[in-house]
Amino acid sequence: MENSPALRNWLDTMNLSHPLVIAGPCSAETEKQVLDIAHELKDTDVSYYRAGIWKPRTRPGNFEGVGAIGLKWLQRVQEETGLKTAIEVANKNHVDLALEHNVDLLWIGARSTVSPFIVQEIAEALEGTDKIVLIKNPVNPDLSLWLGAVERLHKSNIKNLGVIHRGFSTYEKSKYRNIPEWQLAIELQTRFPDLPLINDPSHITGKRDMVFDVSQTALDLNFDGLMIETHCDPENAWSDAAQQVTPAKLVQMMQDLKIRKETDQETEYNTILSNCRAQIDIIDNQLIETLGKRMKVADEIGQLKKQRNVAVLQTNRWNAILGKMILEGESKGLSEEFVLKLFKAIHQESINHQEKIINR
Ligand code: PEP
Ligand code: MN
Repeated sequence: MENSPALRNWLDTMNLSHPLVIAGPCSAETEKQVLDIAHELKDTDVSYYRAGIWKPRTRPGNFEGVGAIGLKWLQRVQEETGLKTAIEVANKNHVDLALEHNVDLLWIGARSTVSPFIVQEIAEALEGTDKIVLIKNPVNPDLSLWLGAVERLHKSNIKNLGVIHRGFSTYEKSKYRNIPEWQLAIELQTRFPDLPLINDPSHITGKRDMVFDVSQTALDLNFDGLMIETHCDPENAWSDAAQQVTPAKLVQMMQDLKIRKETDQETEYNTILSNCRAQIDIIDNQLIETLGKRMKVADEIGQLKKQRNVAVLQTNRWNAILGKMILEGESKGLSEEFVLKLFKAIHQESINHQEKIINR
């Protein structure tokens, strides 16, 4: 699949002066709930009204969505508010019903993107459609699965595509419901700079109080839009109650978010920017050089260990290095999380080197 400016046609023709906003409840619950929220979101920055009709629940027994009846409620939303509508589809039957009921935007959920069979089924059911189709990242941090889904839909001649970054599940303790792993979204954006990229801060954070900050980070990283779960009575929502915000809160957030320009032609800004970038290039080269040197020393240690038949990994020594570096890092304004990740990667590379030497 080639990157092409045509990928963003559907978004560009909307001519928005702000990021694309998709908002609405996690789940459609009742006709009244769907319409009440929609009326509150009418005449705001919201372009698409989202509502889950079929809910993929990790465990059975939770609310699994109202089903096809919700599509009729969304038609009323279109008629009464002029908002366009968006739902999640997870199989051919969902797609057929959504198209029959004139839903404007369909998205593939995180639990579906992990399955090439499901993605292929949906792609075939949507063949040639001019509806907008957005693909959420897979639950696990696997860029190829995400790209693969984009490619399958593109091959089915679906032109109006985009992706939604909703974070990734992790076993590690985290303040997020799904850790953002921003670098994965950035990598996707680097491969397909014209593919519209939407952020879903609701599913990343899992907590309404954190939604604003993640939205701001997304805008700082040049995301094209936001999908934010919105409910008139969030505390009593039938799904994802902790992460939904009220329509009033959403409107306030849209006012408070700082929208960054992609670039600026002003000369002084550009001079300072190129100067800083030149410094970064030099420092990056030094980093690689220093890492190379460190690895040479690790190789020497590997030789010594081989002569003495000593194991590659000495846990005590490693823990001492980590503890020291976390403290050093802190004094330089580096987070513990970053220092840990960095040194784990360096350590792994040293182990790989020493393993090779010992087994030579
Ligand atoms: C949702 O958008 O309500 C949803 C189920 O999202 P995800 O697929 O990201 O979990
Ligand atoms: Mn949800």
